[in-house]
Amino acid sequence: MTPSDTPPRMRGGAGPKILCTNDDGIYASGLEVLARVAGELGSVTLVAPDRQQSASSHSLTLHRPLRLTETAPESYVVDGTPTDCVLLAVSQLYTEAPDLVLSGVNHGPNMGEDVLYSGTVAAAMEATILGIPAVAISYAGDDEARVAGYDAILRRLLRDLLEHRDFPPETFFNINLPDRPAAEVEGVRVTSLGRRIYRDSLTRSRDPRGREYFWIGGGESRWRGRDDSDFRAVQAGYVSLTPLHLDLTDFRLIEEVRSWSLEL
Ligand code: MN
Repeated sequence: MTPSDTPPRMRGGAGPKILCTNDDGIYASGLEVLARVAGELGSVTLVAPDRQQSASSHSLTLHRPLRLTETAPESYVVDGTPTDCVLLAVSQLYTEAPDLVLSGVNHGPNMGEDVLYSGTVAAAMEATILGIPAVAISYAGDDEARVAGYDAILRRLLRDLLEHRDFPPETFFNINLPDRPAAEVEGVRVTSLGRRIYRDSLTRSRDPRGREYFWIGGGESRWRGRDDSDFRAVQAGYVSLTPLHLDLTDFRLIEEVRSWSLEL
């Protein structure tokens, strides 16, 4: 039987069908927490990259074969990007599309323009493009062990979001958990994207053979943004929930740009 002859697998289990993925790879502890939380809300299938894919953004693997490998019941790895994972999972593993796609829990924040680089957010975006409600979840700290304590908070939040899952088309949610123990969280704030200003985030150095190289990342970043920005909520100890939209058109500028009477 060739792969194209393989019938789609039938999904069992109760409740909504939830696809979980991430960009930190199948072994990331945040994915384990996410799968556990999702398992209490519905029947879960895990499809995640086989390695670290952070900052892979919305990239697709177009120029080499992709492998989808079952590693445990309802658990698969893909040797590609988070977007590849969602695309393969939805088209190959489900007879009907899943009811929800969850991406995360990412190790590190995805706030402000991070969402443009993030593989975590891109996976949720890909689901949205496919017409499936989706939520990206990130933890804005370094102490990964704290993420496990967020079980109850995530369960409650995701359950609430699932009840409103006829949210408008082309819309998905971006959640950031604050860098503090779950017991000390102040609440939930609905936020807008802030702006991040990086300084010294590009390092130039020499390798052991004396050749110049560059390293992107590190340095300092500072934030600015509206009072309701995601980073302000997270800094104040709140869970940040940002509704995001796929359409990047600047509708505020459309009329003005038309008035420029551009001609060819
Ligand atoms: Mn990541």
